[in-house]
Amino acid sequence: MQSFLSKTLLLITLLVSLSALAKTENNSIEAFTSSFEEQQGFFTFYHDKATSKFYLEVPKDSRQFIFQTSLPWGLGSNDVGLDRGQLGETRLSSFHIEGNRALLVQHNTEFRAQTRNQAERDSVNQAFADAVLYGFEVVASNDKHVLIDYTPYLLSDVHGVSKRLQQTEQGQFKADPNRSVVYPERSKAFVENTELEAKVTFVGEGQGQWINQVAANADAISLHLHHSFIKLPDAAYQPREFHPNSGFWAHSFKDYAAPLGESMTVQYIPRHRLNKKDPIASQSEAREPIVYYLDPGAPEPVKTALLEGARWWTEGFEELGYDNAFQVKVLPDDADPMDARYNVIQWVHRATRGWSYGSSVIDPRTGEIIKGHVTLGSLRVRQDMKIAEGLLTPFIEDASELKAAVKSMALARIRQLSAHEIGHTLGIAHNFAASTTDRASVMDYPHPLVNLTTEGTLSLNNAYAEGLGIWDKQVLAYGYSDFGGMPSSSEQLARILEKNKTLNLHFISDRDARPASGAHPLAHLWDNGSDPVTELERLLSVRQQVLGSFSKDMLQPEQPLSQLQAIFVPVYLLHRYQTEAAVKWLGGVNYRYYMANDTADDYQPVGAARQQSALKQLLKTIQADNLRVPSHVKQWLVPVAYGQNSSREDFDGKMGLIPDTVSMAASAADHSLHLMLNSQRLNRLVQQHADNERIPSPTQVMSEIFSTVFNDWENATNDPLLQRLLMTALNAEVRAIKSAGLAAETRLMMRAELVKQQQQLAESSSLLLQQLAHDLESFLTDGKWPEQYEPEALPPGSPI
Ligand SMILES: [Zn+2]
Repeated sequence: MQSFLSKTLLLITLLVSLSALAKTENNSIEAFTSSFEEQQGFFTFYHDKATSKFYLEVPKDSRQFIFQTSLPWGLGSNDVGLDRGQLGETRLSSFHIEGNRALLVQHNTEFRAQTRNQAERDSVNQAFADAVLYGFEVVASNDKHVLIDYTPYLLSDVHGVSKRLQQTEQGQFKADPNRSVVYPERSKAFVENTELEAKVTFVGEGQGQWINQVAANADAISLHLHHSFIKLPDAAYQPREFHPNSGFWAHSFKDYAAPLGESMTVQYIPRHRLNKKDPIASQSEAREPIVYYLDPGAPEPVKTALLEGARWWTEGFEELGYDNAFQVKVLPDDADPMDARYNVIQWVHRATRGWSYGSSVIDPRTGEIIKGHVTLGSLRVRQDMKIAEGLLTPFIEDASELKAAVKSMALARIRQLSAHEIGHTLGIAHNFAASTTDRASVMDYPHPLVNLTTEGTLSLNNAYAEGLGIWDKQVLAYGYSDFGGMPSSSEQLARILEKNKTLNLHFISDRDARPASGAHPLAHLWDNGSDPVTELERLLSVRQQVLGSFSKDMLQPEQPLSQLQAIFVPVYLLHRYQTEAAVKWLGGVNYRYYMANDTADDYQPVGAARQQSALKQLLKTIQADNLRVPSHVKQWLVPVAYGQNSSREDFDGKMGLIPDTVSMAASAADHSLHLMLNSQRLNRLVQQHADNERIPSPTQVMSEIFSTVFNDWENATNDPLLQRLLMTALNAEVRAIKSAGLAAETRLMMRAELVKQQQQLAESSSLLLQQLAHDLESFLTDGKWPEQYEPEALPPGSPI
């Protein structure tokens, strides 16, 4: 019986294999797909509804195309970073067909040979590895095409979701084909692009805190993954050369065919294709306008604000002589935002407040932007409203008037943000120096400009600038001028850059502006004014006024009082970004992105008087008077009400559930101390002070920090705030001395100053100071320092 069964099984198996073989060899695509639904397009595909499979018709010629992946349905966690609408990698690809195998190949576009000599091109192609992304079995064919079952790849983790979850320590996950299906609703073929989508479930053990915060079930994460096949743009597009001062991002690759003695690095700016219908006319319509589509899911009044901000760019293009070349519309309900043909502005929800992004699909060969994709985090506007409420409530009694003023500021911010992110998708980089020149660009990070009026009230009417700035228009001119139908020449572009100089416009971007060690006196995020130190002084006094009259009237009677802390935090920390701006004068250095023919004679340290004034203002940010929470506010900072969650936007403290105003002060002071005592800043101060003794030395910085927190000690015996600020300052000095980035000579200089401070404390009759002196001595002799002195980190703050 057993033998009969196994023989029968063998025979059946043989028959099945033979028939499968016959099918592969003889099946025409037409016969194989006769019962499937066909979608003709750039890549024609077939949907076998019975088995829920997608078959893709692949041309036998090895034509190249752009292969783009994306994430239409996200995880919703800002911290993990798998947002709805996120673009994946853009790959120059082709299919390589061999027998019954078809390979999807990603070509290496970093290393090329721009020459007619095929052998020279081959030598570079063969020298640097391509990548085969996936291998498919050919199931049918005809003269010109083969048919592949695309389903397994569509259900795989093409977006690197598992990797991301692992990197962010959320757990080990794997795409589970059993819990995944193709998604025909968003799978369509068009003449120049084919779009395929699947619902893919990632299965694992969701251990991380963030995944548990947002997922319906942290062990099974169902997302949508999208594949786009995009026809290569034609050769009529003319790349435009990059310049460090153009304000554009760089799209770079190496050209191994560059003549000896010339640079191998080729740099283009990323930009959309835009030409005038009539290139000679001073004003003309575009041959193809740039059209952006807004997510219909954005609610009013945000939607209108997003449209208005986006349309600021229209004016910029008009000034370049284009009529109606930049348009913004609402995305039709049936259109797919991931469709490669649409530039889109998406309104994206996440569990927490987070950054917005402007990403693009860029032709890797030329830098041409094929699709702009703006992602705007929806929670940010609510944070902006809290900032406005905290600032305005003490000054506006009428509830409806207050509400209107708050909304007005938040919407002004949304317009700005919409313009900013679209700017990125036009190819434009951040310019963090722009706010110092009369708010010259939407590509800076703006801080609400808070004005105290002569009547003693506060106004946010001018919180954010309206419209493009002069810098934005200059950048557009560089990237999008149509030079009478002729390719751009270096001279034409140089004239635009020359004008930036006459307009006194500076361009300083992320690498210079973001680090705590930043040296550029103009490059700041979330700042205002041409002089950061004067603005810090002004903002500190505005802050004192707001804190003094801080009110809880913005809360509705049915709201728990504990929600006040979320409104109080940004007011209490109103000065945090302007402090980051002002500190760049300390150990600061003037410079630009110089070219070889520049004299660079303005490459100089920030003047001594300015550095001293910066130090003076920075010290105010660690003074007890400025950090003490007013007693009426302290009364309102109550434990979180039952049924409410504590928020990451609140301060951490050392008193359990009871808000800890002493720790708040220490955290705020430590933010400034971190900046002032940054090791690279201190190293610069040593060298600058050696050349000009009026520039503060690290010794002076330390000694002034010490005297700021130690000047009122007679009153400190019963004042934990004064005690804590002294300990926080000493902790910051010790931390700086321990920093690996500190130069040897800086370290010795700072240790010498710390010895002086230690001796001063040791001489005191206060037992507490003697203990502190003891701890310092132990650090100075054997490097030991108690970790209890380290303050809590500030709440996240940006983006605002
Ligand atoms: Zn940005």
